[in-house]
Amino acid sequence: MLDAARLRADFPLLQRQEHGRRLVYLDNAATTQKPQAVLDAILDYYRTTNANVHRGAYGLAIRATEAYEAARERVARFLNAWAPEGVVFTRGTTEAINLVAGAYGRANLRQGDMVVVTAMDHHSNLVPWQILCQEKGAVLRMVEITEDGRIDLSDYGQALERRPKIVAFPYVSNSLGTVNPAGQLIRLAHAVGAVVVVDGAQSTPHLRVDVQALDCDFYACSGHKMLGPMGSGALVAKPALLEAMPPYHGGGEMISKVWDDHSTYNKIPHKFEAGTPNVEGAVGLAAAIDYLERIGLEQIAEHEQALAKAAIERLSQIDGVVVYGPRGHRAGVVSFTYGDVHPHDIATILDQDGICIRAGHHCTQPLMRRLNVAATARASFYLYNSLEEVEALATSLVKAGALFGYVPA
Ligand code: PMP
Repeated sequence: MLDAARLRADFPLLQRQEHGRRLVYLDNAATTQKPQAVLDAILDYYRTTNANVHRGAYGLAIRATEAYEAARERVARFLNAWAPEGVVFTRGTTEAINLVAGAYGRANLRQGDMVVVTAMDHHSNLVPWQILCQEKGAVLRMVEITEDGRIDLSDYGQALERRPKIVAFPYVSNSLGTVNPAGQLIRLAHAVGAVVVVDGAQSTPHLRVDVQALDCDFYACSGHKMLGPMGSGALVAKPALLEAMPPYHGGGEMISKVWDDHSTYNKIPHKFEAGTPNVEGAVGLAAAIDYLERIGLEQIAEHEQALAKAAIERLSQIDGVVVYGPRGHRAGVVSFTYGDVHPHDIATILDQDGICIRAGHHCTQPLMRRLNVAATARASFYLYNSLEEVEALATSLVKAGALFGYVPA
């Protein structure tokens, strides 16, 4: 396992206390903490390099542009993108998926066409497709999940028989921790001619991702879930698809020539980056990638899987606790309920012990309906978490249960 104690020392916020207790941060699927290296990169950018990009003739602006474009190349190398031009900086996964739905979807979907999503999709990979289908008179088909929280491959096959134009799914589920067989799902979708959109919000921080090996068409990710700044992220796409797409937002940067009544557009990726971009976000994201790669994505994945396994074993021993999602191979996300104790009460009580977990529907209301719950409590791990923190979670949970009359087994 990784030396979590040593890594933890790199994160200033994790040195703080909550309610006088050591902070145990287990809400990494929502957002991660930032290492000093990322904070330094952002500060250094503002101290030495800040100017608006792409339009300056002076040295400072040229260096700012170079820093921004170097960050794009860093993201491209990290995900093995087809080309740096295939990396569009966005505010995160949500904006990346809205970009695909709003630009590719609007241009290519016709009345009666089908878009396929799954019952475990985050609202970010569902609502943009609902809006698009409503606008176009297209059909949205939701693929069901199995009892153990995986995409139901037979239902997926049936959905594909209708030859959808677009298929969208999460590589890793933020509510269940399921790692979907992305390569297989993409091959099957391509065999019927669909374009595939992968929600990589939960895979990019935790697995080694190679978009060319996956062969998806669009891949969306968020910087803040992988040690990077809030409001950073990217859409990674096959360049030919981006070339053929109309723009998403209009404004500065994305144009080539502007006349009174029409415009021509810039080359990719700039065509999709209207206005002043989040340079600080891109620079911070590149520093986060450097940090992650120094540790190794494979080691991070192994570490989280060990923590999730320990958490599932430990929580399952507590009478009244139900853990959701697949057993065996899965990501470091553990959703659970505890008898009839409301997950919000669990989270509030754990907070008194300095433990941060999430409670709610995790932006997956259709999934919650299928699990027959309104909400779950969710612990999600990252590289700075340890087995001792899993134990602290379990101990605090038993204490919370006792307040509601649950007797420890
Ligand atoms: N998809 C999944 C699977 C997620 O977990 C999240 C964040 N919770 C998102 C999409 C949306 O990401 P963001 O809020 O960073 O745009």
